[in-house]
Parts: sequence; C-alpha cells; structure tokens
Amino acid sequence: MAEKLKPAERLKKDRVPMRAQEPEERINNFLEVPFGYSLQEAIEEAQRCLQCKPPYCVAGCPADVRIPEFIEKIIEEDIKGAFLEIKKTNALPAVCGRVCPQEEQCEGACIMNKKGKPIAIGRLERYVADWARELNYSDAKKASVRLNKKVAIVGSGPAGLACASDLAKLGYDVTIYEALHKAGGVLVYGIPEFRLPKAIVDYEVDQIKELGVEINLNYVIGLTKSVDELIQEYDAVFLANGAGAPSFLNIPGENLNGVYSASEFLTRSNLMKAYEFPNYATPIRVGERAVVVGGGNVAMDAVRTAKRLGAKEAIIVYRRSRKEMPARAEEIEHAEEEGIKFELLTNPVKVLGDEYGNVVGIECVRMELGEPDESGRRRPKEIKGSNFVIDTDTVIVAIGQSANPIVARSATGVETNKWGYFVADENGKTTHPKVWAGGDIVTGAATVILAVGAGKKAAKSIHETLSRQ
Ligand code: FAD
Repeated sequence: MAEKLKPAERLKKDRVPMRAQEPEERINNFLEVPFGYSLQEAIEEAQRCLQCKPPYCVAGCPADVRIPEFIEKIIEEDIKGAFLEIKKTNALPAVCGRVCPQEEQCEGACIMNKKGKPIAIGRLERYVADWARELNYSDAKKASVRLNKKVAIVGSGPAGLACASDLAKLGYDVTIYEALHKAGGVLVYGIPEFRLPKAIVDYEVDQIKELGVEINLNYVIGLTKSVDELIQEYDAVFLANGAGAPSFLNIPGENLNGVYSASEFLTRSNLMKAYEFPNYATPIRVGERAVVVGGGNVAMDAVRTAKRLGAKEAIIVYRRSRKEMPARAEEIEHAEEEGIKFELLTNPVKVLGDEYGNVVGIECVRMELGEPDESGRRRPKEIKGSNFVIDTDTVIVAIGQSANPIVARSATGVETNKWGYFVADENGKTTHPKVWAGGDIVTGAATVILAVGAGKKAAKSIHETLSRQ
C-alpha cells in the first residue's frame, strides 16, 4: 500500500503528466495518442486527491462514479477494488476515461482547481479500466433474480448500453436493436481509433453482453420493425437512437465528388476500416489537401483522420475565432501539434469543381465577430469582398448532426419537438406511458457521459414504473 500523504503534502504535488506519441510519429499511424499511466504514475496522481467531503467531483459526474472511493483504492494498490467501485455505476469506464470532457465535469468541479491543476480523474479511471481489460478481468455476471419483464432498447450507443447494463443487473430481459453491424454507436463509427481504440469499446460491450443483454445487429427500427410493434411485444421501450443525420452547408458545389459529411468520412475510416485499405475493402480518397469545415470535436476528429490518411495539408475552416471553438481544448491542442492549419473567422460560400465533377477548391469569405447571438457567442458577420479560394482535393463538412426521423415515424403517441428530437422529462419519460428516450435523440448532439447519465436515469425510471405493475 502506498503512503497516504498529509493534506499539505498533497497540495504541493504537481499533476502527473501522461506520456504520449510524438506528433511527427503519430501523424503516420492510427495508434492511440496517449500511452496511459503506469501503476506508479497512477498512485502518485491518486495521492494528490484531498478526499473532500462532500466530494464536489461526484456532483460533476452524470454517471455518479464513486470517485474518491476508487482513488482511495488506487493508493491502497487495490486496483481490482478500484475497478469494482467504478463499475458500481459506470458500465463504460475505459471509454469515459478517454473521451469525457472531464474539464467541464468531474475535474471541472475538483477543489484542486483553486490551487493549481485538478486531479486527473479521467486518466485514473482509464488506468483502472485498462488494468481490468489487460488481465481480461470481468465482474459481469447475470442477475440471480429474474423479473420476467422484457425491455427493448433502440440503439447501442452509450445511452442504450448504460440503460441495458443497469436493467440487466436488476433482472430484466433486455434486447438492444442496433441498425449497424457493430455495437457502440458513435464510439465505434465516429470517434477515431487514435482516440478510442475499438478493442476497448468491444471489451466493454462484451461485459454488458455477459450480463445477459441480447444485441440484435443490422436491425433498423422503423424499417425492419416499428416502435409500435416493440411497444406491443415489450413491457417498456427505451429509444436511444442518437442524432446521426449530418447537417450540410447548403452551398453550391456540395454534391461534387470529394465532398463528404464528417459522418460518412469517419464511418468509412473507423467502422469500415478504410484506414487499413487494402486489408479492408473500403477505399477513401483524401488527396494532397483536405479542408474540414467546422470547429467541434467531430471536425477535429475528421481533420486529424485526413492527415493520417495521407493529406499533406489538412485545414480547419471555422467561421468564429479559436476562443469560440466548441471542441475540447485538448483536441485542438493535439491538432495544432500535428500541424493542422486553422483558417479561423472564415466561412465557405462555394465548392469548386473541375470538368469531371471533382472538387478542386473551396471559395471562402473572411468573417468578423459582431454582437452575441442566442447561444451567447458573438455572431460572425461576413466581410464584404474578402472572398478567396483554398485549393483542395477534399471537403469534409462537420457542422453538426440532427435527428434521423426514421424511428419517430414509427412511434405513435411519442411526441417530438420541432427539430425531431423526442420530448422526454428528466427521467427520460416520453408522452407514451411505455416509452422512454434519452441521449442525443433527446438533447441533440451532446457528450458520451450525458448519454450514459440519461440511460441510467431511464433505467431507474423504467424499474420504478414496472415494479408498480
Ligand atoms: P449514439 O452514440 O449516436 O448511438 C445511437 C445508436 O443508435 C447508433 O449505434 C445508431 O446506429 C443506432 N440507431 C440509429 N437509428 C437506429 C434505428 N433506426 N434502429 C436501430 N438502431 C439505430 N462526446 C464526448 O463526450 N467526447 C468526445 O470526445 C466526443 N467525440 C465525438 C466525436 C464524434 C466524431 C462524434 C460524432 C461525437 C462525439 N461525441 C463525443 C459525442 C458523443 O459521442 C455522443 O453524444 C454520444 O455517443 C451519444 O450517445 P447516444 O447513445 O445518444 O447515441
């Protein structure tokens, strides 16, 4: 067991950095960028935790992870104990430890922010979850009580998986219906391998299957079966089909060869493994120069993927300034380190093509920031006459996703709002008494941990409702 330091000593210690692949090396491969902590590094970082009572970090975590308890176990060198503490509330620790915006959640609420840097909660969670995976350790076992009640879940992203895991542990028969050929939602088709290796997602999905959850792949609800039919067959239905329909710029030239939505580009690369072509049969054409339009996480993933796929120059075109970019700070920094060029305060107005219909450039206009809009961010305004052309072989549009109406169309009595998202209360209850909804299909594109939190709340509410019947 490692030494427990006195509070004054803890305050003096600096946050333990995480080793990572060098930028010039990593732009040539799809291996994960950070290496993760060693046991010694994890203990050193855990020793900084003040074990506050009440723990502010837990209040900042939508999955209620028992943060002080698992950190204490790391200091005791009881990593299995730490893993079991995390798994009490979070079915996806290796995923969340890697991709959660911790700076806005648990780490944002950490009291150490007042003295310097917060405890690296995400990195510690990742360390513990990786320990379990490397040893092939699983705590998953089927519930000893069977409630003989059936729940259908539409979508196997973080919301669906979290809901399935909690309900299966309580003794429900849970079936997930997933449109794609692989479970995990954005975790497998959107977030690239170099940020979230797919073997890690598979491992956590397998643990949920070990609880007895059945996953029906290649099963499109709204086509193969309707939500109305699920309502007839099951005691409850949880809709967690995400916000997967890409938004477009609606500018001339957007139909030219070489223009992708970020969804298509990333799905081709991640899920269809285009980055391993010719070992996998999905080709992807990037060319010498790629322009990605957008400033969020999706744009950063797309531009960094384009660079790794061989683009000599990969450029972000974003209509506001760096300060307003919605991507996580770490993702922007990683992109900068990798030589990604940023054309800020720039908006595309037209995609240009050659006589064969292939992209050859993108015409843009410079912008300036005006008064704040409804989102509180300063509204970008066009600078008249500032048009210029960026020569490019590829344009990737990463300006947001919205609801695909296919599920809602087959769900009688389940209300949607004007954007097509399901209307649900804080427990995920919709306007239909047997239907709950959560994750991006309720909130619009958000985060993994918010989807996990929504899945957990819906599971609790479904259990409360079905227990009364
Ligand atoms: P999803 O993950 O979208 O899962 C929905 C599932 O439903 C999918 O598997 C889909 O195939 C399935 N489905 C859809 N329609 C049907 C149907 N008709 N029948 C059956 N199944 C259906 N968040 C972070 O916290 N950190 C990040 O770093 C981050 N990076 C991101 C990068 C990218 C490229 C993208 C696109 C998103 C990123 N996000 C990130 C956001 C995060 O991934 C989402 O908020 C989260 O995955 C939402 O979870 P969900 O379960 O609601 O939906």
